[in-house]
Amino acid sequence: MKATVSRPRSAWVEVDLEQFARNWEILRKEVPASVSLMFVAKDNAYGLGAVPAARVALDHHADSLAVFTLGEAQELRDAGITAPILILGERLAEEVPHVLELDLEPCVGSIEVAEAFSKAARERSRPVAIHLKINTGMNRFGFSWRTVDSWGQRLRDLAGLEFCGALSHFAQSDELDKGFARTQSGRFEAVLDHLAAEGIRPRWIHHCNSGGVLDLPDAHFNRVRVGLLAQGVYPSEVCRRIDGIAPVLSLRARITAIQALEAGDTVGYGMRWRAEGPCRIGVLSIGYGDGYPRLRNQGHVLLHGHRVPLVGGVTMDALMVDLATVPEAQIGDEAVLLGSQGSERITVQELASLRGTVTYDVLTGLRGRLPRVYRGGIGDGSPG
Ligand SMILES: *Cc1c(COP(=O)(O)O)cnc(C)c1O
Repeated sequence: MKATVSRPRSAWVEVDLEQFARNWEILRKEVPASVSLMFVAKDNAYGLGAVPAARVALDHHADSLAVFTLGEAQELRDAGITAPILILGERLAEEVPHVLELDLEPCVGSIEVAEAFSKAARERSRPVAIHLKINTGMNRFGFSWRTVDSWGQRLRDLAGLEFCGALSHFAQSDELDKGFARTQSGRFEAVLDHLAAEGIRPRWIHHCNSGGVLDLPDAHFNRVRVGLLAQGVYPSEVCRRIDGIAPVLSLRARITAIQALEAGDTVGYGMRWRAEGPCRIGVLSIGYGDGYPRLRNQGHVLLHGHRVPLVGGVTMDALMVDLATVPEAQIGDEAVLLGSQGSERITVQELASLRGTVTYDVLTGLRGRLPRVYRGGIGDGSPG
């Protein structure tokens, strides 16, 4: 992303880069030293800001990055980041030259794509480092574990490919039942054995996302791919907790207007909330247009250390809260919509369950319209 002149806004995402660095320090101690840490920085590092997050991760034990699109990779390269970058998913033919130009390590999940990279390698007279993506049951991307007999040998005969890695992806790693995860790992290991018999021994073997990092230590191989957990957010309620890992991102907004209501007055579109008596309503200039869930008479924000309820429906640009329990509240006061204030906390899980979705979706849903303010590190924003 091009740096733009930042103008003040009364709602913002705050990123605590010190805590982010601490999370990486803790992860490094948690995972055996023989296991490399890859930072999954796709989708703007789940809203943190890909460039500042990648810099901090690389300074604190991550040795490689993963993204999903060429544009995401370009943003990192333009910022001068030279670390290895894995590009997840599968490439179409027209993307192949861009992968080489940006010096990326592509996932390859079919013979046709392997041939395209092999041809490109021969044309430039230099090998292309690829990661073999193995489909062990997710059934999204990758060579099928079932047919390794046929594709394993064909791969071996392709010139110009350096087998830098082999990976698979869990369909379920963060639930209590690890049955299918273990089935997938077994299939992955069988494929690796088969490839070794063909003389293909990739350097980096990786299967784990955050859920696997926490709960499937037998599947760490020599690299893990960490996205959500580095944010201090857990992929589910049931996976293992690690002491000291804490959230990095918070969502904040200042009160921009206050309305005095009489009994019977209503709030917002559809008149969905009605005052029972005289009351004060605080307005925060943040709404579903920023990725905040479109709730109705549901949810809370933190103000002066209290949980204060939302009233009426969340609009595109604003939401309203009942100030009954915080008579001291005034225009300019800072509310926390996600994160902690005093001893109260609103978690990503809380917002996710209000919205009927997963934590990933809440974080990546916070729009670019919200400025990012970085605390405690080498960010590209300044406190608002
Ligand atoms: C997004 C993604 C990850 C990271 O998952 P987290 O649960 O956020 O750690 C790892 N591997 C692949 C293939 C992914 O698409």
